[in-house]
Amino acid sequence: MSEVVAAQNVIQEHSVLFKSCARCSGDRQVRRDFDGYYIACLSCGHVTYPEVTTQEVVRLLEWKFAS
Ligand SMILES: [Zn+2]
Repeated sequence: MSEVVAAQNVIQEHSVLFKSCARCSGDRQVRRDFDGYYIACLSCGHVTYPEVTTQEVVRLLEWKFAS
């Protein structure tokens, strides 16, 4: 089982992706650390990494996460 989430919006830190967690269907929040952006589930802590095109202009085109 896989899920594809496509978004046209620019990723912004702290933005919340509602009910998008593959593990628990909980809300996830975009966060950032030294390595770049990642998306962490607020409910279960599941982390996924979006594919980004550049580091300065970060756009989320598509990302997949395996079940
Ligand atoms: Zn979760």
